[in-house]
Amino acid sequence: MIQLEKALARAGIYPVRTGSETLPLEDTPGRVLAEDIFADRDIPPFPRSTMDGYACRRKDLPGPLVVLETIEAGKLPVHDIGRGRCSKIMTGAMVPSGADCVIMKEDVETGTDGRILFTAVETEAHIDSRGQDLKKGELLLPQGCCLTPGHLGIIASAGKTRIKVARALKVGILATGSELIEAGQHPEGAQIRNSNSYQLAAQIRRAGHLPYAMGIVEDRFESIAERITMALEGTDLLLLTGGASVGELDLVPGVLKELGFRLEFDRVAMQPGKPVSFAHRENKRCFGLSGNPVSSFVQFELLVRPYLEICAGMLPVNKRILVTLEKEYRRKQADRQFFLPVTFTGGGACEAVEYHGSGHLHALEKATGFAEIPAGQKIVNKGDKVHVRLI
Ligand code: AMP
Ligand code: MG
Repeated sequence: MIQLEKALARAGIYPVRTGSETLPLEDTPGRVLAEDIFADRDIPPFPRSTMDGYACRRKDLPGPLVVLETIEAGKLPVHDIGRGRCSKIMTGAMVPSGADCVIMKEDVETGTDGRILFTAVETEAHIDSRGQDLKKGELLLPQGCCLTPGHLGIIASAGKTRIKVARALKVGILATGSELIEAGQHPEGAQIRNSNSYQLAAQIRRAGHLPYAMGIVEDRFESIAERITMALEGTDLLLLTGGASVGELDLVPGVLKELGFRLEFDRVAMQPGKPVSFAHRENKRCFGLSGNPVSSFVQFELLVRPYLEICAGMLPVNKRILVTLEKEYRRKQADRQFFLPVTFTGGGACEAVEYHGSGHLHALEKATGFAEIPAGQKIVNKGDKVHVRLI
């Protein structure tokens, strides 16, 4: 059994090589940027009014001032501002030369002769100076950042509408278990619906990759070997669920070995999710995840997703926040790092959701994160802070 960080580091030695692909900007949220993006001009590109009002010289205030023109956003000013002069200006318009402030239109009275008078005591500049955010040629976004809507705005502002991102990986999902039937089928007797494949597909998609659900295979050594061999064709990474533990019918690690894979680990010191393996052979990579739905979920979030991030060259992002636990939490065994499903209660606090163990998928209904309780710690007192990973 190895620690989670060690397991991830070991798997990370054998990444899937993603390479990059060029996509239309609108198709890239959630993807990992594979090029640096630079500012193609100063931002803002010209001194810009942040208010509707009058561009003028501070030393001429309170006026009265002659109004020279109206400058709309997108128009070039015609006149410079000299003594006793001003120009009406709109938010986002270019501030004319000579002006050092924009007085707000709410602070202005217009006299009968058309000249304006500043009625407030003082004013801020209300001007964004040219290049105050970034200078032309400066780095806007570094390679490796995971793209958010805000990032897309930044890239569009630099005039790029096609960008390089890490290639989306084809991730196969093969569910093992003789009790399993497809979710759309009617279960008889002791049959169980295959929910993991849907859950994992959604997790893969959320991580910016392409899921390929490859059905169910019964708990028979030869069948599993055959289906793994088929599933490896045309996929970059294969996720198996079920049969990952040490029971008589937990065949997956054995099959992987038989197929010539090298197992880097087959147990990780985490709860839920201890039985989990990572295997590689030439350019093929597999994770053997638990059948238990909560375990499989947690294993994906804590191991597979970070692994995919390594493959894509993603820069590290902190996904944990420190939150107060509202009620005391106790556990009997503390040999593994524990991930407790929690929900936020507001005011920087969280509480455990009802959780009966790794088969209790319904616990995920209300969970908004997993609180990490370190190995060795049996009690978290009411009011103690815990690290919560958002899901
Ligand atoms: P296993 O890891 O194969 O020992 O399975 C552990 C538990 O998870 C058993 O109760 C299985 O019935 C259940 N299980 C296994 N695979 C799936 C699946 N694909 N979807 C939902 N439950 C599953
Ligand atoms: Mg099983």
